[in-house]
Amino acid sequence: MRFLTVSDEVVPAIYSLSIKDRFPEIQTVLGCGDLPPYYLEFIVTMLGVSCFYVRGNHDKVEYSESGEVLDAPRGCISLEGRCVYHEGLLLAGLGGSLRYNRDSGAQYTESEMLRRVWLLTPRLLLNRLRYGRYLDILLTHAPPLGIHNGPDFPHRGFRALLLFMERFAPRYLIHGHIHRSYGFSAVTETHYRHTTVLNTAGYRLLTVDALAQEHATSTDREAS
Ligand SMILES: [Zn+2]
Repeated sequence: MRFLTVSDEVVPAIYSLSIKDRFPEIQTVLGCGDLPPYYLEFIVTMLGVSCFYVRGNHDKVEYSESGEVLDAPRGCISLEGRCVYHEGLLLAGLGGSLRYNRDSGAQYTESEMLRRVWLLTPRLLLNRLRYGRYLDILLTHAPPLGIHNGPDFPHRGFRALLLFMERFAPRYLIHGHIHRSYGFSAVTETHYRHTTVLNTAGYRLLTVDALAQEHATSTDREAS
């Protein structure tokens, strides 16, 4: 599966009528937050592929000509707090940043994020039984604590995401929020336990092989 992953910045090379020529191989788009809805809508319309996304702390709101509030990209699928099986890959999402002020928007305390992790747990356990693994890709906005973090509190990562990787070992954790153009961490790829952590601020291209589906774990097979 060939992914285009985006977040945080409207990139001229992507927001372009020649996007299909530049990225002809893309099969799925992943959005990691802090993007205006029109941008993801443009990408999926031009490429004609599925898009899954999570929210950022600075997600923009738009207004239609009739004054209707558009706070989510149309034609895209929210992964907030949920997991989907998409063309052989298990995807889940936990957007938002650490809460650093009283503004509305996707901000969470550490304990709130931990609760969101545990709310996902039943589905992840079911994945393990059904597919032999918990998850392939976790989409987030903020990074895990200590990985690709910025120097200030709003750009610090979640400890709960470290625990998530330790417990559920996704193959990838893809995040945004850490703008490379701000001079934050120049490192954008880190391996933590069994997970590759990628910062996609701007955009990245990523190929992930679907794993063969396992209908039962070895324990199930032995028991049957
Ligand atoms: Zn952000």
